Amino acid sequence: MRAAVVGAGPSGFYASDQLLDAGFEVDLFDALPTPYGLVRAGVAPDHPKIKSVTRVYAKTAQHPAFRFFGGVQLGADIARDDLLARYDAVVYAFGTASDNRLGIPGEDLLGSHAATEFVGWYNGHPAHADHAFDLSSERAVVIGNGNVAIDVARMLTLTADELAATDTADHALAAFAGSRTREVVVLGRRGPAQAAFTNPELIELGELARADVTVDSEDVRLDAASAAWLESDAADRTARRNVEILKDYAARPPSGRSHRVVLRFLRSPLEVLDDGNGRVAGLRVAINRIEATATGGLQAVATGEEEVIDCGLVLRSIGYRGAPLAGIPFDDRSGLIRNDEGRVLDASGAPCPGEYTVGWIKRGPSGVIGTNKKCAGGTVARIVEDRDAGRLPVPASPGSEDVEMWLRTRVARLVTWDGWTVIDAHETAAGEPHGRPRVKLVRIPDMHAVAG
Ligand code: NAP
Repeated sequence: MRAAVVGAGPSGFYASDQLLDAGFEVDLFDALPTPYGLVRAGVAPDHPKIKSVTRVYAKTAQHPAFRFFGGVQLGADIARDDLLARYDAVVYAFGTASDNRLGIPGEDLLGSHAATEFVGWYNGHPAHADHAFDLSSERAVVIGNGNVAIDVARMLTLTADELAATDTADHALAAFAGSRTREVVVLGRRGPAQAAFTNPELIELGELARADVTVDSEDVRLDAASAAWLESDAADRTARRNVEILKDYAARPPSGRSHRVVLRFLRSPLEVLDDGNGRVAGLRVAINRIEATATGGLQAVATGEEEVIDCGLVLRSIGYRGAPLAGIPFDDRSGLIRNDEGRVLDASGAPCPGEYTVGWIKRGPSGVIGTNKKCAGGTVARIVEDRDAGRLPVPASPGSEDVEMWLRTRVARLVTWDGWTVIDAHETAAGEPHGRPRVKLVRIPDMHAVAG
């Protein structure tokens, strides 16, 4: 039996690997000519160890029953029905490429961006390579208390030497070299006990070469509801340790480094302020307090007080969001493919035979890379159950040779695994003389020219 997996990020590779183990032939598709999804275009360039997980995926790609088809856009080059006509099972693994919006005035001013765009830009994603980020102001504000906010704050404060050893896109290296940003304020709408940071990432902020990390001791004084929650069984170890780390930061005297990362809490953005010329001049924020909800949660409630933080750059890092694609059943409320344990469901809640989903577009943008392995395990188990129960539909044109011929009629420049291998070798060779893991190609025509 043959499976198509759409999206060559971590969840797509883990699903492919497990489908191969279950005896399927697998064709893995990606809209880009390059594989690896957020490992290539999301993980921060100064985290090469995390990026080295691609070795595991490259091993999957060596399986004789595996093929990669890069540069194929589902919904544009090919349709959902095209895949269903050719494969016994189709697995959607295209992630949550969009971002959440704040919905406040001034959000679209020059200098106000989604962190997802900034991350894509410094990582050389072709869709973001031509973005411009003005790093000429003294202060930047990053809204959100997740690990992406930490990545962005760190990237804004790394030294040129630290960045020079990474695969940060060349256009971003040049912009960072000229950056005048000295202070990055990371803003949480709730308190330290509710931050979504993980411990190693928060600790890393305290070890930056040229930036002090600053926390106001008032900000880490816990309200009664948070203190009670932290003591209760409901609190997790990560939250307890986060609060300890933040209290340690609050007690640290500044060392006089040239840059600062300032972690502030209990502040909700109300308006991005205009400098009169359509550019960001600051952020007006509401000051919050924490209140317990009827269901046992802890929510931010405005106190009625406000303040203004002067800044020239605002990056909203408030979570990724999925977007509907190619008529695949989509739940607008959650921003995810409608599914039950990975089986895609139609509007009536019935399973769509032969269609499955995995990764962030299945369960939401959460967890670390390895979380996707378990997630893929769940989906592939459902596929195997359906296969064994004879519930997979029989495709109309099942030939594997035909697929490649058909694809070449739809896509002018199809990039196979061999093509990617040539791009990979080109990029790593370009990086080697500079002690960098690679110099990324950031434009699709350049990738095609190299892939041949
Ligand atoms: P995240 O962990 O879900 O954090 C989102 C943050 O945005 C939360 O602090 C949330 O606050 C805040 N937020 C949401 N809506 C808001 C609003 N309207 N106003 C103000 N704040 C708002 O998302 P993420 O940082 O994008 O990370 C996504 C996933 O990737 C996470 O699982 C993360 O751990 C993972 N990741 C891991 C690494 C790593 O391991 N090094 C690096 C990057 C990302 P509330 O809690 O109050 O909603």
